Amino acid sequence: MVRISQLRAKCIGCNACVEADKYRWRISKKDGKCILIGGKENKGWYSILVDDDEYDANIIASKHCPVNIIKIEKVS
Ligand code: SF4
Repeated sequence: MVRISQLRAKCIGCNACVEADKYRWRISKKDGKCILIGGKENKGWYSILVDDDEYDANIIASKHCPVNIIKIEKVS
């Protein structure tokens, strides 16, 4: 499994993560920041556990995020 986490308050809505994985990320029409689809909030961090097949796309999302607020961890 893979844990995807995002510190949403610092998102600048650049869309890079959506381009990397449009099934897991989308820009909110309300505030222009990105939503981690299915993510649950804890102390400002949104996170979700997903299958390993989402790893590659979300590593790209993490690397392309200009404010470095997406973390990807492999968990067993
Ligand atoms: S790549 Fe980072 S800053 Fe850009 S929309 Fe996604 S989370 Fe926000």
